[in-house]
Amino acid sequence: MLPTIAVIGRPNVGKSTLFNRLVGRKIAIVDDQPGVTRDRKEAEARIGGRDVRILDTAGLEEAPPETIQGRMRASSEAAVRESDLVVFVVDARAGLTPSDRAFGEWLRRQTVPVVLVANKTEGRQGGYAAMEAYELGLGDPIAVSAEHGDGIGELHDAIRENLPEEPEEDEREDPDRPLRLAIIGRPNAGKSTLLNALLGEERMITGPEPGLTRDSVSVEWTDPSGGKVRLVDTAGLRKKARIEKALEKMSTAASIAALKECEVAILVVDALLGMDEQDLRLARLAEREGRGIVLAFNKWDAVEDRIAARRKLDDVLMASLAQLRGITVVALSAQTGRGVDKLMPAVRQAYALWNRRIPTGELNRWFEAMIAKHPPPLAEGRRIKLRYATMPKARPPTVAVFGTRAEQLPEDYRRYLMNGFREAFDMPGVPVRLNLRGTS
Ligand code: GDP
Ligand code: GDP
Repeated sequence: MLPTIAVIGRPNVGKSTLFNRLVGRKIAIVDDQPGVTRDRKEAEARIGGRDVRILDTAGLEEAPPETIQGRMRASSEAAVRESDLVVFVVDARAGLTPSDRAFGEWLRRQTVPVVLVANKTEGRQGGYAAMEAYELGLGDPIAVSAEHGDGIGELHDAIRENLPEEPEEDEREDPDRPLRLAIIGRPNAGKSTLLNALLGEERMITGPEPGLTRDSVSVEWTDPSGGKVRLVDTAGLRKKARIEKALEKMSTAASIAALKECEVAILVVDALLGMDEQDLRLARLAEREGRGIVLAFNKWDAVEDRIAARRKLDDVLMASLAQLRGITVVALSAQTGRGVDKLMPAVRQAYALWNRRIPTGELNRWFEAMIAKHPPPLAEGRRIKLRYATMPKARPPTVAVFGTRAEQLPEDYRRYLMNGFREAFDMPGVPVRLNLRGTS
C-alpha cells in the first residue's frame, strides 16, 4: 500500500500543473472517474526515493466562497481523510483569498501533515509573494513555480520529510543480505579502478544475474570481514568503457541514480585534483538522500605533498560540508592497491552507525540537556515548547521532536539539535534526519 498524497487548493491555483510536475514522465492515470469527485486524477510517482500515490483533487472547484466550508467537507474531506499527506496549494500571485483561509483553518484542525505550497512564484517578485502564505499558520510555505519547475526539489524534500515512516525492513536482521554499496564520483576519479581493486581482493563474484541486461550486471562479492556486498547500479561504471564521450553528464547522473538505491556510498575523490564543487555536490546529494558515506581519497600514490593535500581536503570539508563533519576519509591508491584494505572496514563502520538506534530514555536525557543549555527561541513572538524526542527509525538515523509549534523551529536551532545529536552519540559524518512534529 503506497502512501497517498492529496493535492488540494482552489481552482486555478495550479494544482493540475503541479500534479503533472510531481508525477513527471511516469504519468500513469489509473483513475479518471467523472461524477461526484469530478475528474479526480490519480497517479503513482517516485518522490525522494519513495513510491507514492498522488491524487489531484477537484474538491474545491465550483464551490462559491460563501459555501466553501460546506462544499469542502463534502468532497475534499474525503480525499484528505484517505491521504497520508496533503499538499495545499495557494496562488502567490493572486494572494490569499477567504476560501484559502477557511480551508487552511480547517486543515489545521486535521491530524494529517500538510505541506504548504505557494505557487506561481517565478520571476523577481515571486519569493516575496510567497510570504503571505505564512499567515495560514501551516508552517513554511514552499515557493514553487509549477509551470517553470522552480522549487520542486525543495517540495520533494518537504514531502519526503512529512511522509509516514517506511515500514521497518526486516532485511536488516538478515545477515546474508548484502550491503548495498554505491561507488560514486566524477569521471576519472578512479571508480572503475577501485571497483576492480575491491573485487581483486576477494574473487567471490557472483552474477551476472540472469534476466538482466548486460549493462546492469549486478556485482556481488564477499568482503574480507565475511560480509556480502552488492554494488548498485554498475551500469554507470560499465557504460564508461563503451561510450567514452558525453560522459561528463552521464556519469554524474549515474551517481545520482546509484545514490537512491544504496545504503552506503563511497565517494571517490581524485587526490591530485582535490575536492571540488562537483565532489561537494555529490557529497551533499548523498547526505540529502540520507546515505552512509565514506570518502576514498584516491591516487594517493601520485600525490607529492601528502600533508598539504590532506590539509586542504580537511579545510574544504570543514568549510563546505559542515553537516558531514567527521566523515571517514580513506587515503588510498586504487591502482597500486595500497590502502584499499582500509576501505571496506570503514564502509562497515558507516553502515553500523547508519543502522543505529538510540533508546528513547537515553535520547530524552540528551534532549533535555540540549534544551536546558539553549532553550528554543521565540517564533513570531510566541514560545516554542519542545516536549520530547523519539527515534522512530534508523537507516538513516531519524529523530522526531514533538512540541508546541515545534515545526516553527528556526534553521539554526535545528542544526544545533542535529549536530548535538551526532556529537553526543558519536556519529560523525552520519546524515541525520530531524522531524518536527507540532502539537497544539
Ligand atoms: P488547477 O485548477 O488548480 O488545477 O490549476 P491549473 O493547473 O489548471 O492551472 C491554472 C492556471 O494557472 C493555468 O493557466 C496554468 O497555466 C497557470 N499556472 C500553473 N502553474 C503556474 C505557475 O507556476 N506560474 C504561472 N504564472 N502560472 C501557472
Ligand atoms: P572512473 O572514470 O572514475 O571510473 O575512473 P577510472 O577508474 O577509469 O580511472 C581514471 C584514470 O585514473 C585512469 O587513467 C586510471 O588509471 C587512473 N587512476 C585510477 N586510480 C588511480 C590511482 O590510484 N593512482 C593513479 N596514479 N592513477 C589512478
